[in-house]
Amino acid sequence: MSLIVQKFGGTSVADVEKIRAAARKAIRAQRQGNRVVMVVSAMGKNTDRLLELAAEVGPNPPAREMDMLLSTGEQVSVALVAMAIHELGSEAVSLTGGQIGMQTDSSFSKARIRSINTERINRLLDDGKIVVAAGFQGIDNDLNITTLGRGGSDTTAVALAAVLKADSCEIYTDVDGVYTTDPRLLPEARRVDVISYDEMLELASLGASVMHNRSIEFAKKFGVPIHVRSSFSDTEGTMIVTEQESSSAPVSGAAMTPDEARVTVLGVPDVPGKSLQIFSAIAEKKIAVDMVVQNVGDGGKADVSFTVQRKELATTLATLAPVVDAIGAEALTHDDQVSKVSVVGANMVQQAAVASRMFRALAQADVNIHMITTSEIKISALVPRDQAIDALRAVHTAFSLHEKPSDAKSWSEIKADRAAGVEVETLVSRLRDDALEALTLTGISVVEDQARVTLFGVPDRPGIAADMFEKIGAAGISVDMIVQGYNGEEGSTSVSFTVDEDALEPSLKVAKQIAAAHAMRGVQGGGNIAKVTVSGIGLRSHTHVATLLFETLAADEINVQMIGTSELQVTAVIDSEAAVRAKIGLERVFAESLAK
Ligand code: ADP
Ligand code: ASP
Ligand code: MG
Repeated sequence: MSLIVQKFGGTSVADVEKIRAAARKAIRAQRQGNRVVMVVSAMGKNTDRLLELAAEVGPNPPAREMDMLLSTGEQVSVALVAMAIHELGSEAVSLTGGQIGMQTDSSFSKARIRSINTERINRLLDDGKIVVAAGFQGIDNDLNITTLGRGGSDTTAVALAAVLKADSCEIYTDVDGVYTTDPRLLPEARRVDVISYDEMLELASLGASVMHNRSIEFAKKFGVPIHVRSSFSDTEGTMIVTEQESSSAPVSGAAMTPDEARVTVLGVPDVPGKSLQIFSAIAEKKIAVDMVVQNVGDGGKADVSFTVQRKELATTLATLAPVVDAIGAEALTHDDQVSKVSVVGANMVQQAAVASRMFRALAQADVNIHMITTSEIKISALVPRDQAIDALRAVHTAFSLHEKPSDAKSWSEIKADRAAGVEVETLVSRLRDDALEALTLTGISVVEDQARVTLFGVPDRPGIAADMFEKIGAAGISVDMIVQGYNGEEGSTSVSFTVDEDALEPSLKVAKQIAAAHAMRGVQGGGNIAKVTVSGIGLRSHTHVATLLFETLAADEINVQMIGTSELQVTAVIDSEAAVRAKIGLERVFAESLAK
């Protein structure tokens, strides 16, 4: 008998009529011969309302009590859904996170799942019941109630689908699938029939709130096929599956996070270990940093910039204030009026072409780019907050995301692949069942014979980045990583990129022409560098990965020249002579998480 997990989000159970409709969907699936597990979110905006209530009581609620409070939202809806199923003549049992044996760690409001006990669920299913499980919540070792983070019911659903070895996991929500960008922000966004785990993971982590990013980590590890579809219509929706099934378009989606903040530590002594102290302090608070850029300035001082979610800015600044003094840095600055616009695509091999197209689109929309970071499957730009939607629209249009790529698979082809049992590679055999959400790495690799080029004193105005990467592209140079940082000095910034060592001379030549054309301060570049990459799943959400990387390299006195992060890889650019040492060190440090 097939097993289906059906997850209903808040809007899908917002009132009694919708609760009945959800109940009917589950009953229908059961009558078609499936075992059915429902995962339900809090009704409508209930979680928000509970948060407001807490805020009225006081500004600093204890984290434990917050989770106690928020978990009640889901408890209300599972009971009502189970009642509705009874009313409609079938049998259901509602269960809290604790009752489904959803064991988590104790990090309230961001708890990670350790294990799930499927015994009770299976017993109820054997008895012909529909199991209605509360999303978003679990319990820790001391039976405290924990929550998984906003949007966490998706993760409950996919995790249950994984451990129950469900045949499918249906996510019912208020949109009829995954779109090329949030359709609420851009009406021209297009629904995609299929998207890869990697792309969805990256998009979710960069702002596509349709799926909780951690749910995709589970899906990828265990090969759970996810079907995102509407609660209110019978449209086919979107399948989230492995790479080989998706299209070859270089960019498959765009995302925007409106509420970002940039933090810069100015004048950091440029010796190994200083960045480490910055990032380890933040990671300890489990704050995810993104867009990490380090600019080596004059006089052996570096400026270290990164972004955090705006709501984490206050904690980040408070955490860093003592660190800034301790490491002998000059100052701490921030900007909380910034947004992050990103493009994602698993086939983004030719970074330069994608990058220059994105930067040109932003320039034409008169958007100034504050910071740039890239990884193997995404490019992010930090832009002024009041231009964020314009920026997103410009980028969406530039990559023609509103048009279906010619080789995109249709629904019938996807179904045929599925029916033919297309092999899905999973990591499941390597995972420990008492550490389901533990960091999972797939490898540590070194690419040698790289070179870095840096342009200093890059005018801080729209169009410069576009010009640079168009010229570099026109010279036939293929660029790998790109970073543009924030500089303490007003009005200019610096841009670095990496190329194959063979391309260093021509790159320097073009860079010098660009520098001259825009009256930049200078160009610096050199070979003999290597990229060390840690690959895996959920690397940004596991906040300690970047810290461990810095820590290991610092312990070996290895200086990190550039860093690129994504959910799939963290890459550090270092001196070639240190590459082997770095790899050995990282393999030792990450031994536990490295798949055997
Ligand atoms: P639920 O309560 O069902 O979990 P969410 O509000 O968490 O629903 O997620 C659905 C919302 O995600 C949509 O209404 C849409 O505005 C937003 N969204 C953001 N990015 C995307 C995207 N790329 N595709 C579809 N929806 C998106
Ligand atoms: N109710 C929780 C929230 O609003 C969890 C969820 O809906 O996924 O974030
Ligand atoms: Mg959601």
